[in-house]
Amino acid sequence: MPKKRRRFKVKESAFTGLTVGETSWHDWRIELLLLAELAAREDGIDRAIRLFDSIEEHTGGRFDGSMSSWREISDAAPAGLVIVRSENPAFFFGLTNALLSLFNLTVALLDGTTPGCTPAEMARLGLLIDCANSGRSRLSTRMKAVHLLLSAKSRSANEESAEAEGDARAVFATDEPNVAGSVRARWLAMRAMSRGINLDYVAAFTEVCLEMPCGEIVYTPPKRRPWPMKGLTDIADRVRLSLRKLLEDPHPTIPIDQGDVIFGSLVRIGDLLDRVLAASADDDGLAAEIFLRSLTDSIIQLRWLLLRNDDANFTKFKEHSLAQERDALERVVDELEKTGMSKEEAWSLIRRDYAELAERLGKWPELLDVVYGPWSEQSTSSMAREIDPFLAGIFQRASDASHGSWRSIEKYHLSRCSNPLHPAHHVPPSGSRRSAGIVPCITALMQCTDLLLAVYGYIGLGGDAVTRMEKAKEDLHAWIGARQSSFGTFDWDNVEE
Ligand SMILES: [Zn+2]
Repeated sequence: MPKKRRRFKVKESAFTGLTVGETSWHDWRIELLLLAELAAREDGIDRAIRLFDSIEEHTGGRFDGSMSSWREISDAAPAGLVIVRSENPAFFFGLTNALLSLFNLTVALLDGTTPGCTPAEMARLGLLIDCANSGRSRLSTRMKAVHLLLSAKSRSANEESAEAEGDARAVFATDEPNVAGSVRARWLAMRAMSRGINLDYVAAFTEVCLEMPCGEIVYTPPKRRPWPMKGLTDIADRVRLSLRKLLEDPHPTIPIDQGDVIFGSLVRIGDLLDRVLAASADDDGLAAEIFLRSLTDSIIQLRWLLLRNDDANFTKFKEHSLAQERDALERVVDELEKTGMSKEEAWSLIRRDYAELAERLGKWPELLDVVYGPWSEQSTSSMAREIDPFLAGIFQRASDASHGSWRSIEKYHLSRCSNPLHPAHHVPPSGSRRSAGIVPCITALMQCTDLLLAVYGYIGLGGDAVTRMEKAKEDLHAWIGARQSSFGTFDWDNVEE
């Protein structure tokens, strides 16, 4: 009793990953998969011609290389294909056998038996479809050349066949890019003028493949961790020392709100710098990028305050936060009242917090305007652009890490599926830690040297401190310059310990 053939009709869900529309090689490579075994062989052209003639002789059909064409011939004259198989064993090898058996189209041997598909043949299907993945790969170009030849032959276009055969032989004989390019262009022109893919078959193929399990392209960490890094640890120490010296002097001459904000921010920035470097030493890229984003945020706000040089901004920076705290306390009272508590009882529960807020503020919290959202009308990214476009770039890049944008999720929380029969998609990774490389360390240090110079300028500090920081900045730029390629990546993996 013959097995029921898998129909090419599929449900909607199978269209996952299908690019229907223009001549998409991604879909066409599926339609032309039967040509892959021929294209993989050096004598593929001779074998293709022999196959065409054999099919025509024993079935009367003209095989144009596509799965749809094969399906028609197979439906019309299955017995003829048994002889074709005996005459063309190389074509029925590996991938072909796997593909035909996926759709229960396997051709019997002369003795009447139909060999099943082996795991090795399925693996070969995966391997070859992977090789044909790119429309410019050697295998895909050869598949196009064979397709052009078989199409011309199936239309009995003799002159065209001769030309297509010449082109195909040239493609098989050389890796010359011009020869390959001209065949690809011809194929594209032919496809644009004739029918499209058999959507049902391509979708069915995709669906069958989706039933196979996913694999994982496992992440390989860099050879070494980005921190500590020869030449940079010394610069980081100089930055830390300068910060410490600056914080040792309380600078009572600076107006109160300014002093609070400047020195508080500096302590925070120093702590965050340490955390970026510590996360990099663990090669924990996710943490390094998130700490970098907070560091950048604080640096932008502080530098913008220094740049604007307006005492009212410093006051607003503090009061905005405290006003929100007051708002939060008042909301608690509202909620408590909703439970049936009296206003007095509710207030008695938060009185101590309210009094503490008044003490921190130095005035009654009622005097504050509650403004929702960020403390300044100007966005942080616009502040960054005002200070230094470089800073704006870092801010934007680091922001998506803390917001969990797609870049960050793809980089830290997913692996690519390794099954070449699946459309390109991701799977949860088996390991966790992934490197962010040297970039967070470098950008954190660059920002800190620039910030320290800005603070020195603002508080009117000159002399040795400035000279030391200018030297640290110069050394940092020299280190970067020596290891940065023209397209912006760093060769830090090879820095000797
Ligand atoms: Zn998969």
